[in-house]
Amino acid sequence: MDNKFTIVVVVEHDQNAIKPVTFEVLNAARTIADSVIAYYFSDNAEVDVEPLIQGGADEVKICHNSDFASYTHETYAAALKAEIEKTQPDLILLSASNNGKELAAEMATRLDVGLATDCVDLQLSEGEVIVKRPVFSGKAYSLCRLSGAKPYLVTLRPNIFRGEGTAETRTGNVVKEEINLPDFSKIVGELTREVGAELDVTEARIIVSGGLGMQAPENFKFLEDLAEVLGAAVAASRPVVDNGWQEYSHQVGQTGRTVSPDLYIACGISGAVQHLAGMSSSRCIVAINSDPHAPIFSVADYGIVGDALKIVPLLTKEFKNILGDQG
Ligand SMILES: Cc1cc2nc3c(=O)[nH]c(=O)nc-3n(C[C@H](O)[C@H](O)[C@H](O)COP(=O)(O)OP(=O)(O)OC[C@H]3O[C@@H](n4cnc5c(N)ncnc54)[C@H](O)[C@@H]3O)c2cc1C
Repeated sequence: MDNKFTIVVVVEHDQNAIKPVTFEVLNAARTIADSVIAYYFSDNAEVDVEPLIQGGADEVKICHNSDFASYTHETYAAALKAEIEKTQPDLILLSASNNGKELAAEMATRLDVGLATDCVDLQLSEGEVIVKRPVFSGKAYSLCRLSGAKPYLVTLRPNIFRGEGTAETRTGNVVKEEINLPDFSKIVGELTREVGAELDVTEARIIVSGGLGMQAPENFKFLEDLAEVLGAAVAASRPVVDNGWQEYSHQVGQTGRTVSPDLYIACGISGAVQHLAGMSSSRCIVAINSDPHAPIFSVADYGIVGDALKIVPLLTKEFKNILGDQG
């Protein structure tokens, strides 16, 4: 039997625009695997997969079916399970993005295997996979040694495994396959494009986030303006969502999304432990709060004490000038 350690990666794309999280997962996979197979479920058999090979895939399998026009967990899980039975990989690696988390949970059930979620480190040591996961709302880490039935299933926290990017000299195989799927039309129906119309907070590199200190829902326009200039996503604390000022998909924290952007700008957010649980692994945290003793300042790299309703528009103006000059 072949002793090669094989990892399967599922390509995340938005209408065939490959999402950056895919390259993070490929980057993590290639650092430990002998062989990386990327599954690209698409309604277009002629998609350009060269970036995936340059990003670390040894083989890209384009699985074609018109039902893959948009991601649904029913179609992806049905096709992936059939493929996994043929490939028999050691590990299936997915992003802990919205779609990745859903698909991972479904695959764990369908394959009856364990799942390690939201990992921030991945190692292969003497044939054993070891992952590191934040626990207790990010206050501690747990090291898990995976054992039992294969394939192991692991999701990786976005924005952690960026690595060195793509290598133009890499080569790999491309395989195309027509996929037969069960008829999901009664389940799936028509998909509306609510998700994907704006940046997903879990994948965003810059987040502008607002709390109750923004005072009123209409003041989130200040945050949206700043986000637009920075190419950022808008996020919120839980009470903002509970008040109906923002959708739940924007909530960051223990009962919301976990994010790790390059830059997290917290505006009028006190910094309760439940909020910090979702954002304290951000690379740079800027806090704007009128209370100099607000707990958010204890995790902030830069703090601005003052009224967010005045400071955010000034920042937007300043960034517009700077970025406008560069463009
Ligand atoms: C089980 C459980 C789960 C929870 N999960 C989450 C979660 O997932 N995410 C989450 O966020 N919370 C969560 N919470 C709630 C959490 O405990 C806090 O209540 C919440 O994070 C506070 O939100 P906030 O910072 O927006 O509001 P507040 O705590 O009211 O803070 C508002 C801040 O705005 C500042 N401020 C006021 N006016 C201005 C101004 N003009 N300019 C600048 N600053 C100003 C104030 O000084 C204050 O620091 C959870 C709680 C529980 C019990």
